[in-house]
Amino acid sequence: MKELEDRIRRDGEVKSTEILKVGSFLNHQIDVSLFNDMGAEWARLFASKHINKILTIEASGIAIAAIAAQHFGNIPVVYAKKNQSRTLDNSQYETQVYSFTKQKYYKVIVSTRYLTADDHVLLIDDFLANGNAMHGLIDLCKQAGAHVEGIGVAIEKYFEPGGRKLRSEGWDLQSLACVKSMNPQTGDVIFEENPTA
Ligand code: 5GP
Repeated sequence: MKELEDRIRRDGEVKSTEILKVGSFLNHQIDVSLFNDMGAEWARLFASKHINKILTIEASGIAIAAIAAQHFGNIPVVYAKKNQSRTLDNSQYETQVYSFTKQKYYKVIVSTRYLTADDHVLLIDDFLANGNAMHGLIDLCKQAGAHVEGIGVAIEKYFEPGGRKLRSEGWDLQSLACVKSMNPQTGDVIFEENPTA
């Protein structure tokens, strides 16, 4: 998506060859107009799918998913919550996710009330790196018997293995900007236009 690539080139901060900061428009301060265009693009890319729910993960995915949902007929958005204590009544699905940014495992949960076998789900997140967050969301859907119709990511770090792994597993992954490489000296960001498995 050219608009997102241009914005990353203009306002993204290349902190290292691996870390891109996009806090000025994506995951701290939010550009609502850009999010709206991202939602419209996913609606176009997933037009053939019958999606009745969006599932994302706390916290950065929530705003992106909520605006995207308006392009899918205002379907509900559910987000996997972090740091919930264990309950004894089987009222939630839970899974462990390894955090790239914090370098530790954390638990995420979804209530059994909000994810069921009737759901045809689009998974959304801000970044895709190693795919741990996404695999956690896929695991929650499997536990619920929900169907994963597709995966929408704002920024894929193509030099990390997550995207390739998800594509080789057969998931319909649509990344709106796919970063092939970054140079912290010059701030240059190179994009991959045809990501494959
Ligand atoms: P993964 O689980 O695919 O390894 O990493 C995805 C998660 O890590 C995303 O939810 C995102 O919050 C975070 N993340 C990974 N790489 C970056 C990055 O370069 N910048 C930012 N801001 N977050 C990242």
